Parts: sequence; C-alpha cells; structure tokens
Amino acid sequence: MKSYLVDDKGFYGEYGGAYVPEILYATVENLRKQYLDILETKEFQDEYAALLRDYVGRPSPLYYARRMSEKYGCHLYLKREDLNHTGAHKINNTIGQILLAKKMGKTRIIAETGAGQHGVATATVCALMDMPCVVYQGALDVERQSTNVERMKMLGAEVRPVTSGNATLKDATNEAIRDWCCHPSDTFYIIGSTVGPHPYPDLVARLQSVISKEIKEQLMEKIGRDYPDYLMACVGGGSNAAGTVYHYVDDEHVGIILAEAGGKGADSGHTAATIHAGSMGILHGARTLVMQTADGQIVEAESISAGLDYPGIGPMHANLAKQRRATVLSINDDEAVRAAYELTRLEGIIPALESAHAIAALDKVRFKPDDVVVLTVSGRGDKDVETYLANKNMTNLTTRP
Ligand SMILES: *Cc1c(COP(=O)(O)O)cnc(C)c1O
Repeated sequence: MKSYLVDDKGFYGEYGGAYVPEILYATVENLRKQYLDILETKEFQDEYAALLRDYVGRPSPLYYARRMSEKYGCHLYLKREDLNHTGAHKINNTIGQILLAKKMGKTRIIAETGAGQHGVATATVCALMDMPCVVYQGALDVERQSTNVERMKMLGAEVRPVTSGNATLKDATNEAIRDWCCHPSDTFYIIGSTVGPHPYPDLVARLQSVISKEIKEQLMEKIGRDYPDYLMACVGGGSNAAGTVYHYVDDEHVGIILAEAGGKGADSGHTAATIHAGSMGILHGARTLVMQTADGQIVEAESISAGLDYPGIGPMHANLAKQRRATVLSINDDEAVRAAYELTRLEGIIPALESAHAIAALDKVRFKPDDVVVLTVSGRGDKDVETYLANKNMTNLTTRP
C-alpha cells in the first residue's frame, strides 16, 4: 500500500534524507539505528505516557466549538494543545527526546529556538531531568522575545545569542549544528520540529502522534466513529500538523488542510509560505522545499508569527503537498489576526498567532453541513496579546462597551 510515512531510507517521496557533515555521520547514524528500538521498549512507553499524563496534562481536550461550527456550517472540534504545560504542543516532543537522550547515555542537551517556544520546552524538560542545556537563539530574536529568554534562564538554561547572518532562527540552527559537530559523543541535539536530517522528522512526528491517537479515541467517544472528514493545522516546520495527521495520513477518506504563513502575501517577497514560494534545496540536513535565491542563498522568512517564520518545511509536508494528499493554504498576517479575534470572541479562546493561521483557513474551505472537522489549536495566545492589540486595526471590531 502507498504510504505517506517515511520509507526505510529516510525519505518521503523525493524529500528527506540525511545530508550531514562527515563529522556528524556516526552520531546521526547511531541515532537512526537506536531510536525505534528505544521508543518501542515498554520502559520508554510507560515513562513517556506517565509524563504526558501527569506533567503535560494529557489527554488534551477535544472541544466542540458550537458557535464557530454555526458560523462555518460544519461540526468543528478543536484539539486543545494550548492547554498543555508550557502552552503548546512542543512539550510532547521535548519530553520524548530527552528520555531518548538519557537512554542513549547522553549528558548534555542543545537546542535551537526562534521565538523561544521550543527553547522554553527544552529548558523545561532539562530542569525536570537535571541535564545541562544550551539554547542557541538569533540575537535579534533574543531581543524580540525577551519574556521567553527570561523563562529559559529561570529554568536554568544557558541562552547563547547568535549574531551571524540575519541573527534569527536559521542562523541559530547553523550554530547548534556547529556545537553538535564539536561535541558529537556526549551531546544530544533536541530538534523542535519535523525538520533536520533523518531520523529527526520521523522521530518528532512519532512523538507528536499522541495528538492523532487521542483524536481517534475522543471522536469515537463523541460521535461514534474514529475519523473526521477534515483535519486542519498550521505548519511552520510541521510538527503539530504531523502529530494531527499521523494516524490518518494513509486513510484518504480524511481530508488534510494545512495553513502556512503567507506574511504579507505568498508572492509578495515578504512571506514564510515555503510550500508556495520554495523550491527544492537542502536545508539543515534534509532535501526539501526551501525559500532561496536563484543561486541558492536562503531567503529570510517573514510572518507576523515568530513560530512559523522558517524558510524551510518538513520533508513529510513537502511530499504531502507534492502528492496532493494535503491542500496547502497560505494565510496572510491580517487574516490570522482577524481569525484570532474571532475565536476569542466566539469561543473565549485566545489562540497562538501560529494556530490562528489554521483558524483563518476555515473561511477558505466550503464544508458540507455534516462534515466533521478537527482543527488543532497548537498553542495559547498569551505570548501574542501585545501583537494582537497592536494590530487590532486589521479587524473591524470595536471595543465592547
Ligand atoms: C512552534 C509553534 C508552531 C510551529 O511549529 P510546527 O513544528 O510547525 O508545529 C505552531 N504553533 C505553535 C503554538 C508553536 O509554538
């Protein structure tokens, strides 16, 4: 049967693979050889499940959004990853990776971060597991995301600002890879999304797949069948989307709608819509769609949402788009802000700016009245309230008396 999951060589169609410097070859190969065996042990499974339950707060609720359903003419369920400890889905992945690191005998953790969400999720599990943690973050992001920098420091992580390039996420990732090259034997690199060299995209997708595992059980309980008509999620690197679709991806009855960040417009030159604007290239160890100039220089991604601001895309999602298994919509900054206000006013849920891109996509799909739609709210919007208030002019709301 045709599968959209990774093949035994680490590819999703023509995307993926492991393009790493010689010095990292043995380290990545060692991870590839061990990860499935460790993930499948009962010991790992039990520890991981217990932490997801008692520490993260899973299962996250599947909430029937009545007023939004009325507005969009469907049955809309929200998968509430915003209610997790640390406020987003990222912790599902960092808990799993640090358990794996420990089982592999690693003693030091490094990570890259853009907005700081993955940095906080990594620093959190390092505090929990008493592991030293270095987080690389672009100097510009360190300045822009000071609250998350302070959270990481309070959690005991060392934040190293990166001044090369544009001093943002891509440069922080380069620096993390450089660190890894210098300390391949004792250091585990916790990557924050379904990106990087094989086996990372598959590892992260498996760890996030708890989302779709729960959706199956929760739908069965609520509507008596375990699949929806549509799944919807936002994509930066692709991890919350991968987790949302994982157990459904080979079942073509279930439609998949992905929302990427259009920024000021997918063709405006100020965008993070990699699937629309990118072309084949190699970024951070994988062959995938990349936003680049004609001579292969990476073009900086632009979006109002720091978590979607990445010039690449996970190989799994590049393939889902190429094979037309997923419909990919580009959502602009103003559409995301409007959608966030709408969810806030109709359901009393302030979503992360990233998640707001998925909500905005509801307006671009023609649903049938019986359609069951599950949309993942990847994170909460506390971190974005300033941005929302500063951009209220993008909506036509007036303040309620
Ligand atoms: C980081 C982040 C994203 C984007 O990352 P993916 O790997 O594409 O899921 C989306 N939503 C929130 C809340 C995030 O913090």
